Amino acid sequence: MERILAVIDRPFFLDGLELDVGASMGIALYPRDADDVPTLVLRADVALDNAKESSNRYAFYEPERDGSDPGRLTLVSGLRAAIEADELTLDFLPTFDLRSGAIVSAEALVRWRHPDRGLLHPAHFLGTASEARQTPALTRWVLDSALRECRAWHDRGWRLPVAVNVDLRSLLDESFVDEIELALNRNGIESELLELEITEETLLTDPERVAAVVTRLSEYGVKVALDDFGSGLSSLAHLQGLPIDGLKIDRSLGARLGTDPTVKPIVGSILSLGNTLGLRVVATGIETRTALRAVAAAKCRFGQGFLLAEPLPSDEFMLVLDYTHQHKPDAVATGAASPLGVGIGGLGALQQGIGGRRA
Ligand code: MG
Repeated sequence: MERILAVIDRPFFLDGLELDVGASMGIALYPRDADDVPTLVLRADVALDNAKESSNRYAFYEPERDGSDPGRLTLVSGLRAAIEADELTLDFLPTFDLRSGAIVSAEALVRWRHPDRGLLHPAHFLGTASEARQTPALTRWVLDSALRECRAWHDRGWRLPVAVNVDLRSLLDESFVDEIELALNRNGIESELLELEITEETLLTDPERVAAVVTRLSEYGVKVALDDFGSGLSSLAHLQGLPIDGLKIDRSLGARLGTDPTVKPIVGSILSLGNTLGLRVVATGIETRTALRAVAAAKCRFGQGFLLAEPLPSDEFMLVLDYTHQHKPDAVATGAASPLGVGIGGLGALQQGIGGRRA
C-alpha cells in the first residue's frame, strides 16, 4: 500500500502541466471479510469511505465501522427488486434564483420506501459517494420518473426544467443519448427542459469519452451541469471546450462559506470562472443563514439547500409551484430590493405549514 501511494505521490505531467494526484485505498481481505466477490468489493468500498473520512490514506475493512449501517450490502443487492416492486419515489429539491426568489429548476432525488426500514435516502443504500455508485438501472428509473413529473408540471402550466443525477456507467453507455431522446419523446418534453448532472469525479475518470457524450447531449439540446464542483481535483483543464451549461459548487463548500475563510476565495474563483465561460453557477448546501448571506455577498445568483427549501415529495412540490406562481409579482418586486427576495421566506413558511421534518 505504502509503495503504491509513493508511486502515485510523484507528480504526473499531462500536456506540460504538473499534476499532484492523491489516492485513498480501501482493503477487504478474503476470506476474512467475505467469501464472495461482490461482497468483498462492497466491503472494500466501505473501507475506502472510512479511509477518505479519516486522515488515513488506506483502511482495512472493519465491521464495526461499516457505514453505521450494517444492512447496506443487502440493500444494494435489493435495489433492482425495489425498482420492480415500485418501492422507489422521487423528492424534488428546487434551485432558486436568489435575486427574484423564483424557482428555476428542480433536482430529482431518489428515495426508497423500504417495507421494513422505512424511508431511505441514497446515502443509506449506495454509500456516501452515492451518485458515483448509482447504477444504470437506477438512473434509468429516475430519468423516466423525473420526466413524467416534469410533464405533470407542464400540464399545470409550469415550464420548469428537471435535473437528474447521472452515473458514469450510464453516461458511457453507447445507447445513453438515444435512450434520453426516447424518454423525452415518450413524455413529450423538450430537450432543453432536461438537465443532467455529472460529477467532477465522473468527468475526470474518462475525460475524452465523457466529453464526447456531453457534446452529443448538448447538440441535442439537453443541458449538462457539473455537480460537486470544487470537491476534488481541479478539472479546469478538462472544462475547456466542454459544452456544459452549469456548475454546481460542492455542498461542502457552500456549507462552509461564511464560517471558513479559506473557502471564500475558492468560491470566488469558481464564480468568476463560471461568469467567464457563461455558465450558470449554483451554490448548493445552503443550510444556514450565515451561508445564505455569504452566498449572496459573493454575488452567486443561484442557490440550493435546505434553508431555502427541503426536498419535497411531488404533490407538495406542486403546491409550492402554485404558491410561487400566485405570489410571484410581489416576490419579484420585493426581491429587487433585497438580494434574497421575499419569495424564499414565504416558501419557508409554506413548507413549515405543509410539510413535516424531511431531513
Ligand atoms: Mg446533484
